[in-house]
Amino acid sequence: MKVLVLNCGSSSIKYQFIDTEKQLAVAKGMVERIGMSSAVLTHQPLNKEKIRIIGEILDHTIAIEYVIAVLLSPNHGVIKDKSEIDAVGHRVVHGGETFSGSVLISEEVMKALKDNIELAPLHNPPNIKGIKAVLEHLPNTPQCGVFDTSFHVKMPPHAYLYGIPFELYKKYKIRRYGFHGTSHRYVSQRAAALLRKPIEELKIITAHLGNGCSMAAVNHGQSIDSTMGFTPLEGLLMGTRSGDMDPSVILYIMAKEGLSLSEANTLLNKHSGLIGISGESSDMREIESAVAEGNKKAKFAFDVFTYRIKKYVGSYAAAMGGLDALVFAGGIGENSVLVRRDVCSNMEFIGIHLDKNLNENVSGECFITTPESKVKVLRIPTDEELVIALDTEEIVNTQLVNN
Ligand code: ADP
Repeated sequence: MKVLVLNCGSSSIKYQFIDTEKQLAVAKGMVERIGMSSAVLTHQPLNKEKIRIIGEILDHTIAIEYVIAVLLSPNHGVIKDKSEIDAVGHRVVHGGETFSGSVLISEEVMKALKDNIELAPLHNPPNIKGIKAVLEHLPNTPQCGVFDTSFHVKMPPHAYLYGIPFELYKKYKIRRYGFHGTSHRYVSQRAAALLRKPIEELKIITAHLGNGCSMAAVNHGQSIDSTMGFTPLEGLLMGTRSGDMDPSVILYIMAKEGLSLSEANTLLNKHSGLIGISGESSDMREIESAVAEGNKKAKFAFDVFTYRIKKYVGSYAAAMGGLDALVFAGGIGENSVLVRRDVCSNMEFIGIHLDKNLNENVSGECFITTPESKVKVLRIPTDEELVIALDTEEIVNTQLVNN
């Protein structure tokens, strides 16, 4: 099946056109600066030159029209007719408590997505716009929604409830949801395959470390806890987000600095994390370079980053009553030798024995622990788009069988 995978943001759309049989993206690209007169479409067909088109793209409907046009283009395209797009799979950030798996988009699902807007005011509206835009251009093509939250939806109440009055959970659905679910699901399943054991027999901790970072405790194939919470702000230190802290700190800063709600929100989401502590950069490569040059604040930022991951490894091993594997994924998890080294240092007590050489010479999916290490540590490149395409294929095929 050929699936167009879309990740629609407020001013950008990322896409991949995936052949699920070959498990390969035959084209990928991105539309940026939607809503502006100088929007940019970057398109990369497999094994061909990348192209850039600049034009006026005022909304998501026009952006999708451009994406379909470039997929059809005689010079840079990969299909001859729109009908070759068998299905469209959308990354949807927030499914709230409604969705515990991926779904075929229907009117009912659209209503539920709208009901969840309050939980993800920045993310769900562009997802909805993207779905509507596809409906206009490809009215007969099935569309599926794959949620960042659904892998975590079955975590137990003791993991998802906050210590606030229960009525507030009931009234406003304030609970821990967890995000990056597609990535945590994929890399935990790949880890089980590499360990040659059924996932139902394994206790796995997954660390998705990109610009946003989160960890999950995957017990017998089920996420039982995750570091991100009501929003993707909780948990690990991230590029620009604070992660865990005493909630009183923000009230104190708001009072002292006279910040509005929206300014406080921006401070925690955009000016904190690696960039906030280091004052240098939100990018781990630049943090590592600054550390190498002796920059003290960059070193503080790096150490807070790795220390917090280490703390969660301990806490999730306790939550699951043991640990078989720890997985590193995402731009930092896959590429930073130093982050993996520091997280795994002095962890022999828990059964982690890092192999220095393997950690420094990773490629593809691989183990980075010594043969005697009781807990295996793996580096697994994540592929969220592939998961979205495969989920979409499965849903569409099931639908065809049922009809
Ligand atoms: P996103 O979450 O936006 O998908 P990525 O998963 O691509 O982002 O991760 C981006 C992060 O990965 C950045 O902090 C970047 O510095 C980091 N990164 C990429 N390559 C390396 C590397 N070789 N060493 C350390 N960090 C890296």
